[in-house]
Amino acid sequence: MEESFDLIVIGAGSGGMAAAKRAAAHGARVAVLEGDRVGGTCVIRGCVPKKLLAYGAACGHQLADAASYGWTPVGEAAPFRCDTSLLLARVRAEVDRLNQIHIGALDKAGVKLIGGWGRFEDSHHVCVLDSSGGSQRLRGERILIAVGGRPQRPEIPGAELGWISDDLFELPSFPASVVVVGAGYIACEFAGILRGLGVAVTQLVRGDHLLRGFDREASLVVQEGMTAEGIDIRFGQSPVALEGEPGELRLRTADGSVFASCGVLLATGRRPFLEGLNLEAAGVQQEGGRIPVDADQRTNVPHIHAVGDVTDRVNLTPVAVDEGRALADSLYGNRHRQVDHNLVASAVFTQPELACVGLGEEEAVERHGRDGVRVHRARFRSIAQALPQRGGRLLLKLVSEAQSGRLLGVHMVGEQSAEIIQMAAIALGMGATKADFDRTMALHPSVAEEFVTMPD
Ligand code: NDP
Repeated sequence: MEESFDLIVIGAGSGGMAAAKRAAAHGARVAVLEGDRVGGTCVIRGCVPKKLLAYGAACGHQLADAASYGWTPVGEAAPFRCDTSLLLARVRAEVDRLNQIHIGALDKAGVKLIGGWGRFEDSHHVCVLDSSGGSQRLRGERILIAVGGRPQRPEIPGAELGWISDDLFELPSFPASVVVVGAGYIACEFAGILRGLGVAVTQLVRGDHLLRGFDREASLVVQEGMTAEGIDIRFGQSPVALEGEPGELRLRTADGSVFASCGVLLATGRRPFLEGLNLEAAGVQQEGGRIPVDADQRTNVPHIHAVGDVTDRVNLTPVAVDEGRALADSLYGNRHRQVDHNLVASAVFTQPELACVGLGEEEAVERHGRDGVRVHRARFRSIAQALPQRGGRLLLKLVSEAQSGRLLGVHMVGEQSAEIIQMAAIALGMGATKADFDRTMALHPSVAEEFVTMPD
């Protein structure tokens, strides 16, 4: 007999879980289907374990800096190295703990969790296939597709020999050398993590700069810092083939170069995970491999919705969560709400860290013209760098509208930039001007005080 729900959510990642719990809180009868582990990309193989590894890598700096503050070993001097097998095991244990917490939270919210992959039979029916070959048929008055995305390998011979980012979290330990392909968030973050943990890293970039889409000056400061950390960044290198065997790989590039390493990370983008959904049976349209939705997260089939990376808009966890909650509030909470996809702050957890909100200089100039934009910047070494004498100069940058002084973008490269930019995002959302920043008393000595003391 088929079971019926007000809402069936396909995918227990950040967006799906947020929508399911909020809808249940509003009194809806909700089922969430998950064929993999509850938690999705962010919790299981993305933001959370990545940030834990980034903290692990940053520990190396703290240990290296300790001597400059008078910390000396008691007894024999013992140089530190990271046992990455220990670190990875501890990160996996924390992920397991969070996975259980999320399962418990769904249960507590009254959401029925069903293990298995959802496949549309028609626009109201989903068949759930579990790992033992069993299946059950469910009916949903409404259905939410929140299946996220998957890493995408480049189409080159031997690509299957390389790792995708998911694989790195499952390794027994990190090897001695890794070639990282790509220049986006994942490539740059993992290059920094691996280097910080003592791995020799070569990063191959097909273009001429890192982090396309970010303020160019900010990305150059990140590049300077990554190079200073010892990452060998090579531009203009397009991979054409991967050869060898696990542990001894050779990556060939278009100009005939060959890069040998113990492992290759292919961080060449992600795409929506539509395989197996059988969207045709439900009449849900795709567009360029993604599911397009309107401002109310509705697909072309009015009772079928989609949120998060499967819609390929702003592919960040907090955005998916907000989309899920806004949908549930609108459908079941009598509180119609649409998500504002503008002014979304983001951070790249590289060494040094980059964070920003709003427009980069190039984008601002494109929209407002060169004369319509003013740029204010501070580049300096922070007081934290004084004794260790390590690290490059930080960048703090404001981009404003020339006539009104309204801030269009705030960018920072340096320690704790994500924490600082989160606060700047509030100011930008409120329409702050450069004069508002100038009127704010500085908090001394801090790094962020430079944001309120920049000359005009
Ligand atoms: P991105 O789209 O950011 O970067 C993909 C990179 O791969 C680009 O540098 C691209 O080059 C390069 N590339 C693509 N195809 C090839 C190819 N065939 N050969 C060589 N290089 C190639 O993807 P990511 O996987 O890094 O991240 C995916 C998304 O995940 C991000 O957009 C972000 O939304 C999210 N994310 C967010 C994080 C955060 O908030 N801190 C952390 C990690 C991920 P080119 O620039 O030339 O196209």
